[in-house]
Amino acid sequence: MTAQHTASPDRDSITIRLDEVRRTIAEACADCGRPAAQVALVAVSKTHPAESVAEALAAGQRIYGENRVQEAKAKWPELRARFPGVELHLIGPLQTNKVKDAVALFDVIETLDRPKLAEAIAAEQAKSGRRPRCLIEVNTGGEAQKAGIAPTEVDSFLAACRALDLDVVGLMCIPPVDEEPAMHFALLSDLARRNGLPVVSMGMSGDYPTAIRFGATHVRVGTAIFGARPVLPAAGG
Ligand SMILES: *Cc1c(COP(=O)(O)O)cnc(C)c1O
Repeated sequence: MTAQHTASPDRDSITIRLDEVRRTIAEACADCGRPAAQVALVAVSKTHPAESVAEALAAGQRIYGENRVQEAKAKWPELRARFPGVELHLIGPLQTNKVKDAVALFDVIETLDRPKLAEAIAAEQAKSGRRPRCLIEVNTGGEAQKAGIAPTEVDSFLAACRALDLDVVGLMCIPPVDEEPAMHFALLSDLARRNGLPVVSMGMSGDYPTAIRFGATHVRVGTAIFGARPVLPAAGG
């Protein structure tokens, strides 16, 4: 045993919770015989101030999810300058008038959910020379109020996105809040496998071990790392 850091009793709570989430991911992987390296943790930092995010960065976490372009634009350029190697994911709905900023800022857009958005990203790629990886958001629960491509439309939407030269690498879903998530996770994994897509983004603080059992390659965890978010007015979409 050499040069091991001693954990001080007052170690920051974000660091402690981050460790717990990493351990839970490793355990869920071990339970189902998957290598832990197959599952990436996307730390969802939306609504949390830069100081909190800096604590997670100092603890080595490098992949983050934000749900609003404006908030990410205000928060991340400075953090990125301080901590190299950050990978930023957009996990919230993207309006076409924010595509320019989103393409400039995000490495991965997880919420590709309609043809108009695919066209806008393609146009911005051509202009900017940046080509973010994209995930197709799938409305696995067929919820009328929720964004996303219907499961039966995924194959044709994927083909359309590829024809536009989008770099689609996977699928994401947000299961209905009032249902067992397992069947939604199984469906998303199956859709990804059938289409040869390597990335499956699913699972949040309440259900990420289950998502891992059903094949998640990325889990999006906010509350379990950063604590409860302040209650905000409902998002306008
Ligand atoms: C907020 C959010 C998360 C994280 O949710 P927690 O329950 O806080 O872990 C994950 N995915 C999406 C799309 C979100 O909007």
